[in-house]
Amino acid sequence: MTGTAPFTADDYRARMARAARAAADAGLAGVLVAPGPDLVWLTGYAPTAATERLTLLVLAAGQDPVLVVPTLEAPDAERATGACALTLRDWTDGKDPYAVTAALLDGGGRFGVSDSTWALHLLGLQKTLPDSSYASLTEALPMLRAVKDEAELALVAAAGAAADRTFEEIRTLPFAGRHESEVGADLAALLRRFGHEQVDFTIVGSGPNGANPHHETGDRVIERGDMVVLDFGGLKDGYGSDTTRTVHVGEPTDEERRVHDIVRAAQEAGCRAVRPGVACQEIDRAARAVIADAGYGEYFIHRTGHGIGVTTHEPPYMIEGEEQPLVPGMCFSVEPGIYLPGRFGVRIEDIVTVTEDGGRRLNDTTRELVMVD
Ligand code: ZN
Ligand code: ZN
Ligand code: ZN
Repeated sequence: MTGTAPFTADDYRARMARAARAAADAGLAGVLVAPGPDLVWLTGYAPTAATERLTLLVLAAGQDPVLVVPTLEAPDAERATGACALTLRDWTDGKDPYAVTAALLDGGGRFGVSDSTWALHLLGLQKTLPDSSYASLTEALPMLRAVKDEAELALVAAAGAAADRTFEEIRTLPFAGRHESEVGADLAALLRRFGHEQVDFTIVGSGPNGANPHHETGDRVIERGDMVVLDFGGLKDGYGSDTTRTVHVGEPTDEERRVHDIVRAAQEAGCRAVRPGVACQEIDRAARAVIADAGYGEYFIHRTGHGIGVTTHEPPYMIEGEEQPLVPGMCFSVEPGIYLPGRFGVRIEDIVTVTEDGGRRLNDTTRELVMVD
């Protein structure tokens, strides 16, 4: 999954050190990371599956990183992380992995735990170390992975470019008379053709289904006259894409054009508001104001955006109440929409990265209303 990621052992060691420092700054004794996106980001290690056998990275300030790993997976872990000079502490079946881990935790304290850690393992640790307590890593260190370095930015941009090529192809294919699920399958195949190793979602919301932002692509047959929301993305070389365009089958009505224009103006306003130091909630406010002023405020029923990186949904969130200031290198979606129940929906979504003097879109297909057949 990260086979082509251009990261060096130094990159991973710097990330682990940054995490340990951030944890100490947040008053935590350390960070515990089970297999999942955080482990991939910190070490490059992506075991084929998280299992009932404990694998856990232990990071604490002033202490070398240690990976607790089942003995039978130790060779793979060593191959994947060898260059980072990570200390492996393996345990064999029949031994208590929580006792092995507890010995590394200096008697307890409060630890940040990756969100993908199984409850089984967390409860096992808690039982072994009754004086320990835990905080969700997303809550305790939400911005840990938010600011991308240059190599990461290049990968997010490349994933965005692949998603754009997917849209350029899909708009040339027939829509009328086909099931949403067929168009969804085409989107998935195109994402893979253009380099994605993982497809996370292919939303095809036609006609009234478009009014449900997270509509499960289904069996509805797309008709002439339908608005169709196309929202798709996944991982390419370990980094995420996520873009939405709303197309129309044949000639749109004046109302459909007007609603699309409002969403386009809102998306533009959201993107224009991006610059360093501005609070995340200001992006939401900028986009929402355009839709509210046009009289559709009650039909914009979700936050304006979410971060993206080694996952397709992560902090920072562009939502009222989020006062985190934007920092150059952050990447997130700007995706306002209008959803008219029982009728149709419109959403336009680009990934945007914060630059020194503003924002740069990483999706660049037309935001005009595209007519398809
Ligand atoms: Zn129509
Ligand atoms: Zn999306
Ligand atoms: Zn999104």
